[in-house]
Amino acid sequence: MNLLDRLLAATRLALVAITVFAAAPAVADNYPSRPITVIVPFAAGGPTDVVARIVTSHMAQTLGQKMVIENIVGAGGTTATTRAARAANDGYTLIVGHMGTHAAAVPLYSRLAYDPQTDFEPVGLLAGTPIMILARKDFPAKDLEQFIAYVQANTEKLNAAHAGVGSVSHASGELLNSILGIRPTGVPFNGTGPAMDALVSGQVDYMCDQIVNAVPPVKNGSIKAYAIATPQRNPSLPDVPTTAEAGLPAFQVQAWNAIFAPKGTAPAVIGTLNAAASKALDDDHVRKQLLDLGSVIPARAERSPEALAGLVRSEIARWTPVLTQNMH
Ligand code: ASP
Repeated sequence: MNLLDRLLAATRLALVAITVFAAAPAVADNYPSRPITVIVPFAAGGPTDVVARIVTSHMAQTLGQKMVIENIVGAGGTTATTRAARAANDGYTLIVGHMGTHAAAVPLYSRLAYDPQTDFEPVGLLAGTPIMILARKDFPAKDLEQFIAYVQANTEKLNAAHAGVGSVSHASGELLNSILGIRPTGVPFNGTGPAMDALVSGQVDYMCDQIVNAVPPVKNGSIKAYAIATPQRNPSLPDVPTTAEAGLPAFQVQAWNAIFAPKGTAPAVIGTLNAAASKALDDDHVRKQLLDLGSVIPARAERSPEALAGLVRSEIARWTPVLTQNMH
């Protein structure tokens, strides 16, 4: 090799080194080096908050940093989701979104300030959460058939609780109401944690919500559960019939919670977070807590960022026609 060739080879090597260096995400090496903020777009004590706290407390051990939950409420979770979309994409601000913030809100807000598909990097699915039809404990119906007859006969005096327009409870409540042909008064709360308090105290009549919120009050008799909107019963509440068994097969909804990061968060950071979330979902204590509350733990193949991107896409496609028809 003559001198010129040697010089050219050295230059090429140097260029490769520069390219590799330039492509390496600046934050990945020592990430995370400080606490991570996890936005929960609803009030503390509701399903999103509970799932987020269970999983992130284990992730924090894996990552060696605190994961600090920040509850930011309003507009069915879309206020906080907008905030998360605009946060620095350095891996230190994440959001636990769900079937509402990242799907049902799309057709319901004509001026939604974020696009769930293009303004976020999906990190990973945390839990599937079947939807239940729940009512105050003295609601005058002993099963789903009687519930349907009662709400159809008394629609103008009914109050249905939800967590704001575009939330899971709102979207699934709209679907239920449209199947039953009823128009109750919707009562929005900052999350179904406070909505559940109102249901327990009898201030509102009924609500559709994620099972995570329902297991303790159903078990202790402080609310009634008429049905679960999934093909199978749930082991955490084995006496509650499916909607198909109870005579309303058309009402089928399983919601979900998942972690998202702002668009442009480095792939290495997403990979680190995804691995920590998946490790949490394999932990016996985390699994027990989630399963005791009726969650469905995603299988390994459902936990990747790509699988979550696919879920968001298919959920937007599912809810857009349903909610467009029902709301307009
Ligand atoms: N389950 C709620 C919803 O209806 C939100 C929450 O987690 O409080 O979207």
